[in-house]
Amino acid sequence: MEGVGGLHHVTCIAADPQENLDFYAGVLGMRLVKRSVNQDDPGTYHLFYADAEGRPGTDLTFFPWPYLPPMREGVGLAVEVALAIPQGSVSYWAGRLARYGVTVRGAQTRFGERCLLLSDPHGLALALVEVQDRPFAPWAESAVPVDFQVRGLHGARIWEASLTRTERFLTQVLGFRRVAEEDGWVRFAAGAGGSGCWLDVYERPLAESGSWGVGGVHHLAWRVRDEAHQAQLRERVAWAGVHPTPAIDRFWFKSVYFREPGGVLFELATDGPGFAVDEDPGQLGTSLVLPPWLQPYRERIEARLPVLRYPPVLDPVAGSG
Ligand code: ZN
Repeated sequence: MEGVGGLHHVTCIAADPQENLDFYAGVLGMRLVKRSVNQDDPGTYHLFYADAEGRPGTDLTFFPWPYLPPMREGVGLAVEVALAIPQGSVSYWAGRLARYGVTVRGAQTRFGERCLLLSDPHGLALALVEVQDRPFAPWAESAVPVDFQVRGLHGARIWEASLTRTERFLTQVLGFRRVAEEDGWVRFAAGAGGSGCWLDVYERPLAESGSWGVGGVHHLAWRVRDEAHQAQLRERVAWAGVHPTPAIDRFWFKSVYFREPGGVLFELATDGPGFAVDEDPGQLGTSLVLPPWLQPYRERIEARLPVLRYPPVLDPVAGSG
C-alpha cells in the first residue's frame, strides 16, 4: 500500500491580503501562481505562492481573514511551516529579512540543517531551512536571485496531546515512517523522505487545544499520485474511524479532507492537473481566476475583493541598504 508523498501544499490564515502578497511575493520572492477565492467563502481571496511552475510541494497558500482573532497556539494544530532554501543561504536571508524589517526569532540547527526562524507580518511562524539542492522551477522575475530562492515546502511542525495516537495513524494509515527525534520533536517522513516530506510532532499532553486564527495554519495537504491513489487512501482513513469528506474538485487538484485523530486538518491532494490548467503558464497569478461554477458571479465577486498591487513594491527599512 502506497502512503502519501510529501507535502502538496500548506494553507494558512493571513490578515490584510496586500501585506501578505508584499511579504511572500516581495520579501520572500516567491511567485504568486494563483489568485483565486476561497471556494467556500468567495468574498475572501485564496492566494497561492510557489515556484515558477507551481509544482506540488512548493506551494504555500493563504486565506486572508483580517477579522479573525489571532491563532491560539495549542494541540491539534500546526504551529510552524518550514520552507527550503539553498545550502549556504542563511546569511543572505538574514540580511534580506533585516532590510525589510522582518522579525527574525533566531537561528538554529535542526536535524543537522541550519535554519532561520521568523514570523510573517501576521504572526505565522516560519523556518527557512538550508537543504541540499532539490528540483524546483526558478522564477526569473523574482526580486530574489535564483541562487537564493525558496525551493519549496520543507516540512511542518504540529503539537499533539497524544504522540502515540497520532503516530499510529501516520504510520499505519498514511504510510509515514518515524525517522528521528531531537529536543522533544519526533520526525516522521512521508514517501521517500527528504526536504518536503517532513512532519515533526511535539507531544504536549497538558496543553490546551489550539484554534484557527490570523497567523495560524489552516491545513496540511499531502500528495497523492492520482484519483485512484486518493480513493485508496480515503478508504483507509475511513476504516481507521476518521471521517473523510468525499473527493472535492478544486479544479487544479482534487481534495479529500479529514482531521487526523489529534485534530490537525489534513488534505489528500492529487498532483494534477495543476495550476496551468486554466491560465497561460506565463501569466499565472496576474488576474483573478475562478473555478467554472463561480464564473457566473465574477462581477459580484470582484466588486467585493480589495484591489491588489502586483508585483509588489517594497520599501526597505529606513537607514538600511
Ligand atoms: Zn488545501
